[in-house]
Amino acid sequence: MSAKLLLLEDDPAIARTVAYALERDGLTVTHSLLVHDARQQMQRARFDLLVLDVGLPDGSGLDLLRDVRNAAPTAALPVLMLSAHGEEIDRVLGLELGADDYLTKPFSPRELAARVKALLRRAGNGNGNGHPATPTATASALFLDDETGQRISLRGQALPLTRREYRLLSHLLRGAGRIHSRDALLAAAWGDDSESTDRTVDTHIKTLRAKLREVDPGREYISTHRGMGYCIDI
Ligand code: CA
Repeated sequence: MSAKLLLLEDDPAIARTVAYALERDGLTVTHSLLVHDARQQMQRARFDLLVLDVGLPDGSGLDLLRDVRNAAPTAALPVLMLSAHGEEIDRVLGLELGADDYLTKPFSPRELAARVKALLRRAGNGNGNGHPATPTATASALFLDDETGQRISLRGQALPLTRREYRLLSHLLRGAGRIHSRDALLAAAWGDDSESTDRTVDTHIKTLRAKLREVDPGREYISTHRGMGYCIDI
């Protein structure tokens, strides 16, 4: 991965640790000590991710965040905010202004590197240009990408799906948040195959859940709505 990251942090010790951890993972890190300098860097180059501190000598990282979100070229840029311990207000404001994630100081470089990688994956990155890779439907963690040949990824890992499971899951994903009846799912994944029944759908949902759980044990993505059908929550 050759993603480019802009780090805005005025504490040299923190900046060094962060840059070291991320560069070890193959990222290119540009470091700014001042809001003013970060603005200039962003005018000069395109970044895949912004990591910003809040309290800076010449202003607030939150002001930069607001401007980043309001400018079309950077509106979707992934932003991870570093907030000082006890500065709850910064964290809340940052998330309201559209930060994608935050870490409270002190944090471990390992934790930061993991969060950064998750954000880059979520943005569909790896192609290094800061734009999501042509998804037909995206979720925060579940990612449907038809162009790579019937693949659905969860947290950056391609799920090992059978053809039916793929069709079932992609149908659910395209209509995420809606309840799909068993009949609708049957039609979407099995077409006219008269051998299949509602039970077939239930069985496949069960194996799908198991496969999702294997990658992300902490979340249940597919919910059952009694007498109505299934829904995927993303
Ligand atoms: Ca600071």
